[in-house]
Amino acid sequence: MTIAVLAVQGAFIEHEKMLKQIGVQCFEIRQRKDLEQPFDGLILPGGESTVQGKLLKELELFKPIKKKIEEGMPVFGTCAGLILLARQLSNDTHTYFGTLPVTVKRNAYGRQLGSFYIESEVKGIGKIPMNFIRAPYIEQAADEDILAKVDGNIVAVRHDNQLGISFHPEVTNCTKIHEYFCEMVKQYKKCVYSNV
Ligand code: GLN
Repeated sequence: MTIAVLAVQGAFIEHEKMLKQIGVQCFEIRQRKDLEQPFDGLILPGGESTVQGKLLKELELFKPIKKKIEEGMPVFGTCAGLILLARQLSNDTHTYFGTLPVTVKRNAYGRQLGSFYIESEVKGIGKIPMNFIRAPYIEQAADEDILAKVDGNIVAVRHDNQLGISFHPEVTNCTKIHEYFCEMVKQYKKCVYSNV
């Protein structure tokens, strides 16, 4: 299994470290030609969604990545990555890939002081450490897609091939969410393989 990590801006190195820790091969997507290498899943890291959105378009990565997500390739967005996936933003007129059927509020805990740490439960995974850094939360999602809530706010969802979370597991030493995503990728690979 090979996972690609979008590396135009933000916390991509931390995700690569997590993948290496669990023995999963990965490489960075920085430019259009990087998409020519085969990969089975994609991580969209945290950072600044407006900058990432702009760079994705300038580097001509936006359309081919959107197409892959729409075709069913597993994708995992953390924080800014979740914002890029969201179908709607409640406090911003922009949308990016728009593939994940949720409404997300950017900087939902405040712009600077809204960073905090908590340990909380994720459905199917258990209790894990969560680092929120100028984080969004999810205001609306289908009940069956919700994986975690903190203080009543939705902070993790899964919809088919898309996993979106508000917090940053890659800055903790807990690899459970990455393992969960790799399991999604494994199932997807099995599916594609059996359809050939
Ligand atoms: N506040 C950032 C944004 O709106 C997201 C923060 C993060 O990824 N840690 O894009």
